Amino acid sequence: MPHYNYLIIGGGMTAAAAVNGIREVDANGSIGLFSMEPDPPYDRPPLSKGLWKGTALETIWRQFEKHGVELHLGCRVQSINPHQKQVIDDNGTSHTFDKLLLATGGTPRRLPFGTEQIIYFRTVEDYRRLRALAENHQRVCVIGGGFIGSEVAAALAMNGKQVVMVIPEPTIGSRIFPNDLGLFLNDYFRQKGVELLMQEKVVKVEGRAESIVVKISSMETSREREIVVDGIVAGIGIQPNVELAQAAGLKVEHGIVVDEFLRTSYPDIYSAGDAAAFYNPSLGKRIRVEHEDNANSMGRLAGRNMAEEDELYHHLPSFYSDLFELGYEAVGELSTQHEIIADWKKPNQEGVIYYLENNRVRGVLLWNVWSQVDAARSLIAEVGPFDRQKLKGYLPRPPSK
Ligand code: NAP
Repeated sequence: MPHYNYLIIGGGMTAAAAVNGIREVDANGSIGLFSMEPDPPYDRPPLSKGLWKGTALETIWRQFEKHGVELHLGCRVQSINPHQKQVIDDNGTSHTFDKLLLATGGTPRRLPFGTEQIIYFRTVEDYRRLRALAENHQRVCVIGGGFIGSEVAAALAMNGKQVVMVIPEPTIGSRIFPNDLGLFLNDYFRQKGVELLMQEKVVKVEGRAESIVVKISSMETSREREIVVDGIVAGIGIQPNVELAQAAGLKVEHGIVVDEFLRTSYPDIYSAGDAAAFYNPSLGKRIRVEHEDNANSMGRLAGRNMAEEDELYHHLPSFYSDLFELGYEAVGELSTQHEIIADWKKPNQEGVIYYLENNRVRGVLLWNVWSQVDAARSLIAEVGPFDRQKLKGYLPRPPSK
């Protein structure tokens, strides 16, 4: 029976970062990595950003060959036996471990009508499919106005494609951006040539000869109409992959529950990345984060702790996005349910937005404002109460020496 000192389930950025973390501490322990994807680990953000602006596909691969990892690609782990410290793969082979990491990530949500014509954009294979589509066709429907929807729509439009976005909400990014910024984004996308069908949902997709007919329905009036496109991409959120953990009896609550050392409820089993729910002291609660910074920082720390370090994960992850010429960084909880204080240097072009709850700053959006993520993190860690007037002009801070 194959045995690994470190066995990792998942082949994303978290898994790759964990390998680095292990090797920072343990140069020789054996590492086995199981991934359902046929491709080795890679950076995901370029799939919806840089690769559409000239970055070469070769640059996305994570470099860890030197770490001597045994890769099991295109391979699904069927079950975990935490007592016998054993996993069984889809060939029925058992593998034993000293330490196990669940870096199982998430699976894109799907619409309730089964069609293979919709690209639920997440993996490099989805990128290849969309690239091939864009090379031969012109008109693409993008479903969803979140991170994937907005970035992929911008990427396609920048590559000369006709893009129609179908979004159930009234604005792009309506979960995180205040309404006026969302309305600005709607106009901005329209100016860039993107057709926006707001407060509409897709109710049917039908292949017809060379094209695809998308039936959409108004959220307000239920009036239905059809649009004809060459391809469809959807970004309607992900579900964390917690089933393996659940079946193994690990504690799961909206994510695989880990302590501050990233240990699950079973000894020697760790979890990190999109699937893991961890306690963040700045926010004073358990969160689950689906962004790159968390994948990299949490994966690395999980790897180090599996290799006998004893470090607390207290990092408050940041995230960022690029939309045509606009860009931002953000940290903490960006929720339009919070009280919002906007401090614009130039309206909708450059400024800082603070998200408050119970007189505390819970999140900060740095809109075209750079190198301020650490200062924003420190602000979120402060207990307050905050004087709203004093927040105006608080960021950007001069660089600390
Ligand atoms: P997302 O950012 O959660 O956005 C999904 C959007 O789709 C939400 O606005 C959601 O609305 C909407 N939606 C849900 N059901 C829908 C339906 N049936 N029809 C149309 N829209 C629907 O998720 P995502 O864009 O799919 O991204 C997937 C994951 O990748 C996320 O975890 C994201 O954080 C990550 N990602 C991050 C970045 C970045 O950090 N820059 C970039 C790309 C991807 P409701 O809110 O009403 O449910």
